[in-house]
Amino acid sequence: MSQSYRTFTAMQINVAQLLKEPVGANRHYTIDELAGDNEDTQVTGDISLIRTGSGILINGKLIAEINGTCSRCLGSARQKININMEDEYFPTLDIGSGVYSKPEPGDLTIDENHILDLSEALRQYIIMATPTKMLCKADCPGICSVCGQEFSKGDCQHKTRPVDSRWEKLVQLEKESKI
Ligand SMILES: [Zn+2]
Ligand SMILES: [Zn+2]
Repeated sequence: MSQSYRTFTAMQINVAQLLKEPVGANRHYTIDELAGDNEDTQVTGDISLIRTGSGILINGKLIAEINGTCSRCLGSARQKININMEDEYFPTLDIGSGVYSKPEPGDLTIDENHILDLSEALRQYIIMATPTKMLCKADCPGICSVCGQEFSKGDCQHKTRPVDSRWEKLVQLEKESKI
């Protein structure tokens, strides 16, 4: 890892210095971080912090590698998704005057120690971007709904590959009628 490659943990950035700078001042960070609900989502990319008139604007171009379950074979599945963050954070304590300000409901805030914490927003972005169905690979053949045979390793005695869940009932009925 080179010297210029900056990483930070916990996604917490001290922005005290940036808040003292004029509008338009900025910082850039490279992220390589575990985030998300289970802290098992690898997030990489770049974020920039820009001083605005009222706070700090975050721009992030990130890639999250989501770990999930294949909806066909129940094996583990991984998927890379793009996350574009764009949020403005507002200080709860004015660094110049020392005056506290009351944030509006729903505002993202910088705490009174001038720490801007990205982790909660990033967690939300990850939830929003996570697909409801994931596949271990695009052509995953799935498993037999009767015996659990993985079709990627060959057919089982049932041989019937339900195309989708609508057929599963029919396959089940057919099987029962043979008993
Ligand atoms: Zn699969
Ligand atoms: Zn089977």
